[in-house]
Amino acid sequence: MDNQTNNQKAIGKVITVDEAKCIGCGLCVSTCPDVFELDDNGKAQVKDSNACKSCDCQETIDNCPAKAISWQES
Ligand code: SF4
Repeated sequence: MDNQTNNQKAIGKVITVDEAKCIGCGLCVSTCPDVFELDDNGKAQVKDSNACKSCDCQETIDNCPAKAISWQES
């Protein structure tokens, strides 16, 4: 991890899915399976905001087709 990777968590933010925007494509679950899962409604939810070991979920945020994932103040 570099300093950039640590930033969002270090300042107390949590990764968040806007379920109203989520289209349930499952891409985030494929990319960061330790962080995201699909709920019973087929929408993504966060199971562990701090579980991404590689990209701080930035790759997932960038690739979400619905732009439903962001870091929010915890
Ligand atoms: Fe929902 Fe985005 Fe995850 Fe697809 S990548 S399941 S639209 S949050």
